[in-house]
Amino acid sequence: MPFTLDYEPSRFSSPRPGYDGTSLQDAARAFATEEACFDHVLQRRLEPEAECKKCHKVGHWYRRRGYKYLQHACGAAISPLAGTLLHATKLPLRLWFYAMLHFANSHEGVNSGFLERQLGIGYLAAFRMAHKIRLHMAAIEELSRGSEQYDSVHARLEIINNVRTGPHHRDIANILLAAAGQRVEVAVIDEVRRHTVKRVISDLMPGQKEILTTCYRTSRVFAAYGARKPLAAYVPRHFIDHPEEVDTISGFMSYFLWPFRTNHRHVSHAHLWLYIKEFQFRYNRRHRSRDTYWDMVSAFPQIFPKKLSGANSLLDPGA
Ligand SMILES: [Zn+2]
Repeated sequence: MPFTLDYEPSRFSSPRPGYDGTSLQDAARAFATEEACFDHVLQRRLEPEAECKKCHKVGHWYRRRGYKYLQHACGAAISPLAGTLLHATKLPLRLWFYAMLHFANSHEGVNSGFLERQLGIGYLAAFRMAHKIRLHMAAIEELSRGSEQYDSVHARLEIINNVRTGPHHRDIANILLAAAGQRVEVAVIDEVRRHTVKRVISDLMPGQKEILTTCYRTSRVFAAYGARKPLAAYVPRHFIDHPEEVDTISGFMSYFLWPFRTNHRHVSHAHLWLYIKEFQFRYNRRHRSRDTYWDMVSAFPQIFPKKLSGANSLLDPGA
C-alpha cells in the first residue's frame, strides 16, 4: 500500500458515534510493504523464543529472504500465516490489510463486487477474501468477549424477513440479541424455545444473573407461552423509566437492518451469522471507532480449521 501524500491526514472527529476511522495514509504508513505486513503478523503470532515441535529446542528461528515462513536448524518450518485469514494466500498481504481497512471504515459493510473493483482481483478471489475477513472479525469479537460478569442482560428475539434459504426460497430468520451496557451480542438461532434461547444467552453473556426484556414476544418465549415460570423479567417500560440508559438492541437493529436489506439482500441463511458478526464488530466499537481497524489487525486468530466456539460459530466445510 504505498500511499503517501506529503501532508498529515486530517484529524476530523465526528460527534456521531461510529463516524471516526483510520485514514488510508495511516494504514499505508503502517503497512507500506509486504515485509511490514508479514512482520506485523509475525509479531502477533510467534514469540521469538517459540519452541520447535520437531527438535524441541527453543528459539533460533531464521527466515529465508522472500519466503513467508520461518525455518529451524533441524529443517522444521512454521508459518505465522498458517490457519489465519492469510493462510496460503496468493494475494499480496498489502491487499488484505487494505481490504480490512474498508471493512473497518464502512458503515454498510463491504461486498465482494466492491473488493473486486477496488483491488483489481477476480470476483471469486474477492468473494473468498470478504468471507475470510468476516470470519476473522467474528473470531476477534469472540476473543474480545472477555471474562466480564454481567448482572443483568437485556434480551430480545427478532425476526428477519425474506432471508435466502435456497436458490428459489426465502424464509424468516430468528435472531437473538443480548445487550449489557453498551455491548451487544447477536446470534442466529434455529429453534425459538426457552431453553435453547437461555443457553445461547449464557454462551454470549456468561455469568448473567437476570434477563430482562422489553419485548412481549420474547417474554412469552421465556415463559414457554405461559406453561412455565418465566426465565426473563418482562419490563416493557424499562427504557422509559431509565432515560439515562440506552437501548443498545434497538440501536443495533437500526444499524444492521438497512444495509442488510439493500447491500446484502442476497445473503443466505447459512451465512447470515457472519454478516451479523461483521456489523456487531463495528457496532461494539462505535464509541471508539478510531480503534476499529487497529483491533482488526491486533490479533490473527486461527480460523481454519474451525477454532471458534459457542453459538453461531460453525464454519461451513466448503469455506
Ligand atoms: Zn527444530
